[in-house]
Formats: sequence, structure tokens, C-alpha cells
Amino acid sequence: MTALTRRLLLALAALLLTAAPVAAGGPAPLILVSIDGFRADYIGRGITPTLAALAEEGAWATEGMRPSFPSNTLPNHYTLVTGLRPDHHGITDNTLFDAARPGVKFSMGARDQVEDRFWWDGGEPVWVTAERAGMKTATTFWPGSEAAVRGVRPTTWFPYDEALSAFDRVDRLLGWLDLPEAERPGFMTLYFEAVDTQGHRFGPDSPELNQALRGVDAALARLVAGLKARGLYDRINLVVVADHGMAGTSPERVVFVDDITPLDSFTVVTMGWTASLIPRTPQAEAALVGKHPHFECWRKGEMPARLGYGTHPRIPPIICLSQTGWVVTTRARYAERPMTRVGGSHGADPHDPAMRALFIARGPGLRPGSRLPVFDNVSVYPLVMTLLGLTAQPNDGDPAATAAALR
Ligand code: AMP
Ligand code: ZN
Ligand code: ZN
Repeated sequence: MTALTRRLLLALAALLLTAAPVAAGGPAPLILVSIDGFRADYIGRGITPTLAALAEEGAWATEGMRPSFPSNTLPNHYTLVTGLRPDHHGITDNTLFDAARPGVKFSMGARDQVEDRFWWDGGEPVWVTAERAGMKTATTFWPGSEAAVRGVRPTTWFPYDEALSAFDRVDRLLGWLDLPEAERPGFMTLYFEAVDTQGHRFGPDSPELNQALRGVDAALARLVAGLKARGLYDRINLVVVADHGMAGTSPERVVFVDDITPLDSFTVVTMGWTASLIPRTPQAEAALVGKHPHFECWRKGEMPARLGYGTHPRIPPIICLSQTGWVVTTRARYAERPMTRVGGSHGADPHDPAMRALFIARGPGLRPGSRLPVFDNVSVYPLVMTLLGLTAQPNDGDPAATAAALR
């Protein structure tokens, strides 16, 4: 072999190696990361260099992504992986009741309910379609991944465990990438709650929140380093999102529903910046519906169209929405847990910029340096399905809203 032929062969081998997808012949694997409560503008604080680099190199919604109503955790996580509005997928808030299960309450802490497909079957998450198409999937937490939705679970999944450190979550994912090719997942998720937790406890402008941002960025740095060490950084699509933003609360901004109608005239289903209530009398309903100082209530069928909410049978008859920053509660609840200092919350109008969530995507399927204007989070799903080479289920997203991110 001449020196020239050898050089040519080496160059060809190098080209083939860099161009080869991780799973031969298939689309690049995709890692979907959620940083709960990462408000879009946090990235501008200059303390999340890993995220900044991903945004710089990849696709980035510079002004953030609009959550779906209600801007709470479970509804929006399920929207991100189904492309359906909460009104359509049925995880209509963090707490649910259903007429078919009288007296049963679905909430984050109700493990047996969280693992019951009954609550989640209204949507088909990415991993279900992927598994059906023969792709292995693995989740270190994602709402819905603990249930056999429509009869299918991720190949690898774990019950939510807040005690598992962010680094351990990352290391577990890196371990999946070291599996023999036939067992390696094509779709993986990661979830981090610390930014949301500290946002609630200390508020979005607190040093504690900033420390949580640094912690999550360090976990992402570990992920990126692990991908680079395996030669996978340019061969894996990384999509980093949040479910909603965060805004400040104060003991000076509290109003009480029972100042409008007596406490025993309604039942509280959810209480927060989005509250849902069941009036016990026509008088209570009449008193609740309408504008009040710092919040407004509607009958579920009469909500403003921009909120895209109110048709699902699980939604209680009255929905109230606070002015961002104002806590709506009852005097009894407040007496039990009074606010003593500033903090933070979400659940406000998705059209409020404070509710906007992070969106960054980088990898071989994504256009370097592309910038997306604010878009609705229902359009993450069609993007993810395109990147995975899977057929999207019917959804509320608009592929055109995220198409500019594609290479
Ligand atoms: P939120 O009440 O809307 O602020 O919800 C945020 C909380 O959701 C986080 O603090 C997490 O502890 C919790 N969470 C996230 N994913 C899950 C899950 N799969 N199961 C139970 N709780 C969860
Ligand atoms: Zn959340
Ligand atoms: Zn939260």
C-alpha cells in the first residue's frame, strides 16, 4: 500500500466514524432534559455557562417558550411529551379528580395514582410511540413515565426519587450510553427539581435560586463532559426545556376567596395562582364568577380562548386566575401556613413573560445558532418526533413553530 493510499483510507475511515450515527442506520439518540421552573431569562444571569454554550451552539428560544394553561408542573411536562394541551391530555392540573373514580384523588404524592395509566391515557407520550416502533427508551424521571401509559412503559424507568442527586441522575444516563448497541436507548429523559424548589422557597431573585442554577449547570456540564468523552457530543440531540417560569410572592400580596363567598359554600380542588373550585350553591357560583381584586374566576366553559382550557371533564366548574404576584387562598389555609417572607410561585397566565420557560436544543439534527421567537410548548413534541424519525400522534403543536431549529 502506498503512503498516499494509506492516507486516503485513513481519511475515509475518519469520515465514516464521525458521520456514523450511534445506532447504525437510525436517527441520532435524543436526550430530553427538564429543569423544573427554569424561567427563560435566568440564562442571562451569566451563572449557567454550560447552558449558555449549548444555546450559543444550538437552537435557542431567546425570549423563552410559552407554557400551557395551567402553568404548573404535571400538566406542562405531559404537554411537552405529547404535544397536547392539558385540556386535551387530561392531566389538567397537579391535583385531579375523575367522576369514574369517586373519592380518589390524583396528586404528585399519591404513588399508586401516579403509577396508574388511568390518569395518563389521554395522551401518548414520546416513549410509548418510540417503544412501539422498536426503539428502547429510558427515563430518570418524567411525569407519566412511572405508569404503563396505553399499556407501555419505558424499557428503563424509576419511581420519582428527589433524594437521588443530580450527578447520580447524569451518571445513570451516561451508563445507558455504554450499553451494547442493541440495548442502548434512542430516547432518554432527565429531570431536575432544585431550581423550582428554591424558586418557591426564596423567590426568583434570591441567592439560593442562583445557587440552584449553578448546581443544575454543573450537572449539565457533567453530562456534556460525559458525552464528549464518549465521542457522542456531536452525535446526540440534546433538548433542554423547562415546564414554566417563576415570579415573586410576598406576605403583602395575599387575597382570600372566602371574603367573596363563605368558606362552606365551595370546595377547593386546587389552590394557587390557578385555583379550581366547586361551588356548593348557585349563590356561591354567582358570587365567584367575575373579576375580583387581584384575581378573576370563570365558569369552565366560559374561559378566555387564549387560555385553551375548560372542556375536559376533569376540570372543576370554576377556574380562577390570579394577577401575577398575588396569592389567592382561604383564610383557613393561610392560618395554617402563613407566609412569613418573600418566595415564588407559578401557575399564572401563560401569556405573562414571567411564566416563560427555557428552550435550548443542540445536536446533529439542530441548526447551529438558530433563534426561535416565543412559541407555545405544544410545539416541542413535533420537533422531538421529527428528530427521532417517529410519526407524531395527533397533537396541538405546530411543526412550523419549531421548524427553524431543524438543520
Ligand atoms: P409544582 O408543585 O408545580 O411546583 O411541582 C414541582 C414539584 O414536582 C417538584 O418539587 C418535584 O418534587 C415534583 N415532581 C416532579 N416530578 C414528579 C414525579 N414524577 N412524581 C412526583 N413528584 C414529582
Ligand atoms: Zn414545575
Ligand atoms: Zn413549582
